[in-house]
Amino acid sequence: MIESLSYLPHPTLPSEELAGHFTDLAPPLTARQAAIESARCLYCYDAPCSRICPSEIDVASFIRNIHDKNINGAAAGILKQNILGGSCARVCPTEILCEDVCVRNHDAEGQPVKIGLLQRYAVDHAHFAAHPFKRAAATGKTIAIVGAGPAGLSCAHRLAMLGHDVVIFEKEDKAGGLNEYGIAKYKLTDDFAQKEVAFLLDIGGIEIRCRQVLGENLQLRDLHAQYDAVFLGLGLGASRKLGLTGEDAPGLLAAVDYIAALRQADDLSSLPVPKRAIVIGAGNTAIDMAVQIQRMGAEEVTLVYRRGFDAMTATHHEQDIAKANQVRMLTWAQPQQVLLDAEGKVAGMRFEKTRLEGARLAGTGETFDVAAETIFKAIGQSLASDALHDPMAALLKRDGDKIAVDAGFRTVLPGIYAGGDCVVPGQDLTVQAVQHGKLAALAIHHDLIFKVEAA
Ligand SMILES: Cc1cc2nc3c(=O)[nH]c(=O)nc-3n(C[C@H](O)[C@H](O)[C@H](O)COP(=O)(O)OP(=O)(O)OC[C@H]3O[C@@H](n4cnc5c(N)ncnc54)[C@H](O)[C@@H]3O)c2cc1C
Ligand code: SF4
Repeated sequence: MIESLSYLPHPTLPSEELAGHFTDLAPPLTARQAAIESARCLYCYDAPCSRICPSEIDVASFIRNIHDKNINGAAAGILKQNILGGSCARVCPTEILCEDVCVRNHDAEGQPVKIGLLQRYAVDHAHFAAHPFKRAAATGKTIAIVGAGPAGLSCAHRLAMLGHDVVIFEKEDKAGGLNEYGIAKYKLTDDFAQKEVAFLLDIGGIEIRCRQVLGENLQLRDLHAQYDAVFLGLGLGASRKLGLTGEDAPGLLAAVDYIAALRQADDLSSLPVPKRAIVIGAGNTAIDMAVQIQRMGAEEVTLVYRRGFDAMTATHHEQDIAKANQVRMLTWAQPQQVLLDAEGKVAGMRFEKTRLEGARLAGTGETFDVAAETIFKAIGQSLASDALHDPMAALLKRDGDKIAVDAGFRTVLPGIYAGGDCVVPGQDLTVQAVQHGKLAALAIHHDLIFKVEAA
C-alpha cells in the first residue's frame, strides 16, 4: 500500500506544473485534422480493421460518417458495438489491433489511418438530444452484476437495452474499475471514466451500489437466490508476489496501488516520490508505472525484465514511450534479493543475470545491484480468492487461476456468468472486457427468454 512510502519526500514541482505532466498523451484531433485523416481511409471492402476489432466496431463505416460530417452517426455506430467506445479510443493498443492491419501501412504513405484518434473524435463531438439507445419493453427480470469495471458496465448497459433491470454491486467507492483506478493518468484524463459511467447509466434501469464486496458483505449463493441471473466482472484484484524475503518491507509495493493513488489524488504534490525507483515487469502496467513515476519527478527510473525486449508483452509503441521518458530498461536480469537499509527500508535490489538454456530461462550466477528507495512490482495480477469462498462460489470451475466459462460466458453453475479479466478467453484489455460483457448479456437474455418459453 502507498502508506508504506510515507517517509519519502514529496515532489519539488508545484501541483499545477505536475498536473501538466499528465495531460493527454495523444492530443485529440481538430476538426480539420479529422477531415483530413478520414479522407485517407479507403473504406476497404471486408475491412481488416473491422475484422480485428475485439468489439466488432465497423471501423470503415464510422470513418465514412466522419468524412460525411455525420458525427452523431459515427458515434452511434461505435457505441452500438462498444458502449465504452470513448475510453477504448483512448486506451486501446491500436498499434497491435486495427491500425496494425490498416492497408494504408502498405502504400506509399506507410502510415495507418489514425483510427483510435478518429474514434475519439466521433465520440467526443457527438451531441445526442437524449441517450442514443432505447430500452426494449420491460421483461420483469433483474440481473445482479458484481464489479463495475468495463465488463460489468458493458453487460449492464446491454441488459438494460434488452429490457432487464440491473443492480451492480461494486467494492470501491466509484464505478469504472481500472478505467477509474488503473489506466495511466495521461491516457484517461479529465475524469473521463466517471463521465462515461454517467453517460451509460442514462439509459435507465441500472442501479450501482458501491462498497458492496462479494466474499465480505455479499455472498454468491444469496445473489443467485435473489436475482434472475448473476454476472461476475471481478477483474484481477490480487498482485502477484516476487517470493523474496523483504517483499513486505517499506518501499516495496504493487505498481497498481501507486497508480490508483496517483489517479485519485486531487493534488499530485501530496504523493510520495522516490529519487530512484525500480520497476519489475514487462507489460503495459510496468511501462505505465515507470513513465508515471518519472513524470512525478523521480530522477532515476530503471525497468528490469528477466527476458529480452522481444518477449515483453508491452507493445513496441509502449516501449518507445518509456524510452522517450528517460526510463532505463534492463533486460535479461531477474530479482534475487531485496536490499534493505539499517532501518529495514528498501535500499535497492540485487539482480541475477539470465540467459536462455534451450527454451528454459536460467540464472547465470552473475549478479549486480541497483540502488533505489522504491521497488514497484508489475509482474501481473490474479483473481482475488477472497471473493469466491462461499460454498456456492467454491463450486465455480477454474481454468488456471481464472474462472472457466463457455463461449456464452456461462460458468458451470446455471444462472451464473462471468467475463472480463477474471475469465480465461482473450487478452486482458479494456476492449476485450467490454466485448465479454456484451456477449454475456446476450447469453443471459437468450437463456432467460428460453427458460420462460420452455416453461
Ligand atoms: C495498470 C493497468 C493499466 C492498464 N492499461 C491498459 C491500457 O492502456 N489499455 C487496455 O486496453 N487495457 C489496459 N489494462 C487492462 C484493462 O484495464 C483491463 O483489461 C480491464 O479493466 C478489465 O475490465 P474488467 O471489468 O474485467 O475488470 P476491472 O476493470 O478490474 O473491474 C473489476 C471491478 O470489479 C470490482 N470488484 C472486484 N472484486 C470485487 C468484489 N469481491 N466485490 C465487488 N466488486 C469487486 C473492482 O473494484 C472493479 O471495479 C490495464 C490494466 C492495468 C492493471
Ligand atoms: S484498413 Fe485502413 S484504409 Fe481500410 S477501411 Fe480500415 S482504416 Fe480505412
